[in-house]
Order: sequence, then structure tokens, then C-alpha cells
Amino acid sequence: MKCYDCLQEARSDAEGIGVCSQCGLATCENHARIRQVQVSRSVGLGPFRGYMARKLVCHACDLAGSTP
Ligand SMILES: [Zn+2]
Ligand SMILES: [Zn+2]
Repeated sequence: MKCYDCLQEARSDAEGIGVCSQCGLATCENHARIRQVQVSRSVGLGPFRGYMARKLVCHACDLAGSTP
């Protein structure tokens, strides 16, 4: 799995670390942006519980300013 952004820049040596959750392309640690997103979920009848989850987006999708 090669980083798409690195391939565009003719650097084919970078191995991807993950897949962008927006466009689905592989991205390396240099081009990946990890976002912390708050997720709320109700468990049964209990109160809402918020926890932090991670979301990986690539450099291009991060620049596009997609909504978190
Ligand atoms: Zn890259
Ligand atoms: Zn992307």
C-alpha cells in the first residue's frame, strides 16, 4: 500500500500507514492528518457517553476543509 500523495510527487518509497476516511486513498504518516472526533452514544437507558475517536484523513481532504 503506497501513499497516493507521494506517488503524485514521484516519491514511491513511502509506505502508507492508513486509508483516508474521506476519499479512501492510502496515505503515509507525512501526508496523513489524524483528527480527534467526539462521539456520543447512548448506552441503553443510561446517560450519553462521550468519547474521543480518531479519524484519519489525507493531506488533500484536510486542505479541502471537510466538516469534522
Ligand atoms: Zn505521502
Ligand atoms: Zn482523502
